[in-house]
This record gives sequence, structure tokens and C-alpha cells, in this order.
Amino acid sequence: MEESRTETYLQKTGIPIGVDIDDTSTELASGIHPWVIQEYELHPSIDPFTTYDFTEGWGCSRQESIDYSFAFYRSQAHMNLPPVKGAVKAITALAQNHPVYAITARPIQVQEETLALLAKHYPPGTFAGVYFTGQFIDDGTKVLSKLDICRKFGIQVMVEDSLRHAMQLAPNGVATALLDYPWNQTDDLPENAVRFTNWEDIYEWILAYEKKLQKK
Ligand SMILES: [Mg+2]
Repeated sequence: MEESRTETYLQKTGIPIGVDIDDTSTELASGIHPWVIQEYELHPSIDPFTTYDFTEGWGCSRQESIDYSFAFYRSQAHMNLPPVKGAVKAITALAQNHPVYAITARPIQVQEETLALLAKHYPPGTFAGVYFTGQFIDDGTKVLSKLDICRKFGIQVMVEDSLRHAMQLAPNGVATALLDYPWNQTDDLPENAVRFTNWEDIYEWILAYEKKLQKK
């Protein structure tokens, strides 16, 4: 067993790749918005799907948005979240010969639920690691950023749905594929960030980007 594990590791000679979890690997918005709005009888004044900010999208306080999110992560509805279309095929294909790191802004407190959701949709060994930055809570404690994690593992390419994270990663040497959603629209994407509507194109783009890096 030990030997074959070493072998598998050695075969992964491709560049390390970072992927976000929520709405990149597995869906979130489609499940959390209707669940929270019904559970807490909220009446948001805007369509929650148009903003990345739950406080704004649910029309509640910051603390409430954190509490509601935790309740959702621990609900059965969380375990019912489907994978993002095309993500399982693309990520498992990439993971054949690339170390793929899942990097999420979720807090470490929901590690167990998060790993269970990933394990429901992704075969064992797909991810070389799963990292929780906790930026989502943003309670003033010093947390690592996604950029810190990328630097730690030499990740030069990342897949994201958050414009805020893309804006931090792309100008700092992490080419970012941004999955297109209503909540990440802008006229001003940084040079090193590319918008995509599907995982099939992201897969091809990553392989092409890797080739370009190897030619340098
Ligand atoms: Mg996300």
C-alpha cells in the first residue's frame, strides 16, 4: 500500500492547481439562499443571487448572516448540494496528474461537513489537500488568505467564483479562471483573470496555461 501511494504521488507531475469549493466545485447559492430565506422568514429587498454578500442578499445583520450560514452548513440541505455542472469530470481529470488543492473561505469549524460534501461527489484522493481560510467569518482574527495558500503550495492557477478573491489572486501571479455568475459581474477584470461559463473550457485553459508556463 505504502509503495503504491508513493507511486501515485510521483505520477502527479503537472502544476499544482487551486480550486474554490462553493459554487466552483459544489453549488452553494442555489441551496443556501432559498433555505435561509424560508427558515428565518426573511424578506430581502434585492435578489440574493445578484450579490456575493449574504448580509446584503438576505437583508440581515453580519452576525445573523454568519449564524444562518452555520445552521445551513449543518443542515441536511447542505448535504443535498449538487456539484457544479462539469466540475467533477474536469477536477477528477486534472487530479490524475496534478495536485489539486481545494481552497475555501469557509471556516475550519465546518471542516467535517465540508469534507463530507466533497466526499459525496468526488472520489477519494481527488484533492491533495483542503484548506479553510476562514475569511468568510472575518472576525478580526488573523487568517491566511487564498493568496497565502497559493504561495505556500506554488499554485499558479486557481478556479474561483468570487470576484474579490480573483482580484487578489490574479494581479499577484495566480492566473484565475472566474466562473461566470450574476454575483461576480464587472467591467474591469484584472489581466490575469479570465471569465468562463463552463468547466470544459476551464479544463482546456488550464492545460494550455500549463504548456505556456513550461515553455518559459
Ligand atoms: Mg466560491
